[in-house]
Formats: sequence, structure tokens, C-alpha cells
Amino acid sequence: MDPGILQWLRKEMADCLFATVRAMPQVPVPPESYDAGRNQYYSTKILKEMLKEVPEDAFKILGVTDKDLCIPILTYVFGEAQLGGTAAVVSLARLRQEHYGAAPDRPLLLSRLRKESLHELGHTFGLIHCPSRDCVMYLSNTVAEVDGKGRTFCRACMTVVTSQTGAGRE
Ligand SMILES: [Zn+2]
Ligand SMILES: [Zn+2]
Repeated sequence: MDPGILQWLRKEMADCLFATVRAMPQVPVPPESYDAGRNQYYSTKILKEMLKEVPEDAFKILGVTDKDLCIPILTYVFGEAQLGGTAAVVSLARLRQEHYGAAPDRPLLLSRLRKESLHELGHTFGLIHCPSRDCVMYLSNTVAEVDGKGRTFCRACMTVVTSQTGAGRE
């Protein structure tokens, strides 16, 4: 992981969730999550390992990786989260223009990473997919769909998040 991207994301998540967000030291991806046949990593196994490393004072934990993620029934995932749980993980691998044979585009990569990070964290707050295209919780299976949806939570989804973070309380 590019530490610059991680620090950028840390600040974005703090600003958007009105929460204190800390970056943890980088750790290797758990080797048992790797599938040599697919040359991909099972996100569910990564989440399981992450749960062992949750700091005592942490409310949520987001893993960020360059590795290409998958689950058994899908050829790839941008990320995965525990619905209403603690842990979420996102991958940069398929958010990069290079993956599609195009020239690198850092602003676009960061925009996608921000959306997918909020999306997966949204699932940890118990949010399911939102019917509004303007909402970051809208289902996006392709980068075109990621690019087409809104950059943050709609009002209804944001209310669910802030009711748990305590943001906006007097
Ligand atoms: Zn989702
Ligand atoms: Zn929504």
C-alpha cells in the first residue's frame, strides 16, 4: 500500500464520518487467504484475521489492500464487510485504470477508493444497498457503476451512520 493513499483516506474518512480515524501499521495479507489457482485473496478470510487485531478503543476497522479480492461465488469484489459488524476491507486492485488497460488516473482512483471505503463501512453500520444512485450505498459491481454513483451517503443512510457515531450530538 502507498502510505500517501492511506493517509489521504484516513483524513477523508474522518471528515465524512465525523469520527477520529487512525492509521494502523501495515501488516501482510494473511497467507491462508491466498488462492493460487485464482491468484486472488479471499476477502472473508482477511476479515476474519482482521477481527483478531481490532484495538480495544476502536469502533470499526477498515482494511485497505492492493491485492485482488474475491469470494467463492464471485470472480472479484471491490471489498467486503460484516453487515452490522466491526470489520470491512477494500481493494485498490480493480479501482485502478491500469487494470482496464488505461493510463493511471490518481484522482479517479482516490475518488473510487473513497466511495468503496464508505460503502463497505456503511455495511458495518448495518446499511444495506440503497436504491438511490446519488448514495454511496448504491450497489456497484463495476467501476462504471462506482463512477456513476454519489460520493457520500444520502440523508437517510447518513442518519443511520451518525446515530451510531454520535456525530451531531449536542
Ligand atoms: Zn455493498
Ligand atoms: Zn442511501
